[in-house]
Amino acid sequence: MNCILRGVRVIDPLARRDAEGQDVWLSEGRIIAIYKHMGEGNLPVIDLTPPAGRTPVILCPGFIDLHTHLREPGDEGAETLHSGSQAAAAGGFTQVLAMANTVPPIDTPERVKEATFRAVAASVQVLTGCALTKSLQGEELVEMEACAAAGAAAFSDDGRNAFSPRLLSEAIGCAATIGRPVLIHPEDEETLAQVNNVQGPVQRCPLRPVEAETRAVDFALRALAHAGKGHVHLQHVSAAASVEMLRRAKEGGANVTAEATPHHLGMWLPFANEPHPPGLLKVNPPLRTDRDREALVQALRDGVIDAVATDHAPHRVEEKALPFDRAAPGMIGLELALAICITLGGMGGDWIPTLVDRLTIGPFRVLGPSSGVREPRLRIGEAATCVLFDPAAEWTVEPAHLRSASQNTPLLGARLQGRVLMTLVDGALVHHDRQRLPWPAPTGAETVRA
Ligand SMILES: [Zn+2]
Repeated sequence: MNCILRGVRVIDPLARRDAEGQDVWLSEGRIIAIYKHMGEGNLPVIDLTPPAGRTPVILCPGFIDLHTHLREPGDEGAETLHSGSQAAAAGGFTQVLAMANTVPPIDTPERVKEATFRAVAASVQVLTGCALTKSLQGEELVEMEACAAAGAAAFSDDGRNAFSPRLLSEAIGCAATIGRPVLIHPEDEETLAQVNNVQGPVQRCPLRPVEAETRAVDFALRALAHAGKGHVHLQHVSAAASVEMLRRAKEGGANVTAEATPHHLGMWLPFANEPHPPGLLKVNPPLRTDRDREALVQALRDGVIDAVATDHAPHRVEEKALPFDRAAPGMIGLELALAICITLGGMGGDWIPTLVDRLTIGPFRVLGPSSGVREPRLRIGEAATCVLFDPAAEWTVEPAHLRSASQNTPLLGARLQGRVLMTLVDGALVHHDRQRLPWPAPTGAETVRA
């Protein structure tokens, strides 16, 4: 790879750079120079200059996903570190935070160490998420300090919300001393058990009213206030009412951040074309009304919601084919995130710089410098970690082309806009659209990191 990409819009939020019509000289995984117009000498030029009136192709730092389920160890039939990180690369994500609810869960310093060691082989940077409580049962905190020392980037019982406000408050205080955020899956399990009239686990219960979320948000905010320090991050906020609570808490100075998923930002019920099986629409928290969706989009724009996070949740076919009540919750998201935000969330056009912000520096700030997340920047001369995408390119979601080992999305066959053309991690080409960028790839470059 030694060429000039011509006619690119370069967006680098931390450098406050946003410039159209740029020539980008790439050589062996490095950005050598970015200029308005470059004499090409004998370098090959790939001209990406858009026709008049069409949005240009964009180069920006690699996306960061705060919420990825890689299913390894324990459910490698649904996803592996390898397939999941390939899906991340195809979606423009160069760093992902892996959730801890694997089998067994990542809830001891030894398991954190193992997970962090395994992740070195992935084609993108995989940050290790550690459970907040042992076995995600909500009863006993993990050894937070030792887990952080072993490589835990953040703490979350994602999928569960079984802790008492008192235990949560203790956890927030402890995480504060080691510079880690506490990530919370805000669905109050008591409320879920009551409305579904069940005694046992509530993860697959179908009824998930807004009150289950607002109650959990309220508990989390109270626990944060009680801790008197620390940082709480609310995962996959789904309801307009929660957005209002979040807005008020932030205005009051609380150190709280939040994420929204592409599916909650782009889809609502009733769904336009009911998928088969209907379990493909099942997510926790559920898709809500278009009014909720609009509130999330507005909050993302205002910065009340800090980041887009995929909640990439791969499941085996048979897990999704069960009747809706028993089907596994979640959909895949890494490869579709950008296109869902642009096509269904309406975040193309003048939204693009904000969207790039919420996919790069938004999640970077949520994790914070002690977590081990790398600063999303385009640095001249260094091995690049970046993404090139065409916000106007149309494509069809075809199962055969998805890199994830699972295909549980209600969007199979859908026509979407917004396509990743190239992803570089530490100078290694981890994803590449051969039609749009026709350079010969060096052997093995797509699987081996520099
Ligand atoms: Zn969750």
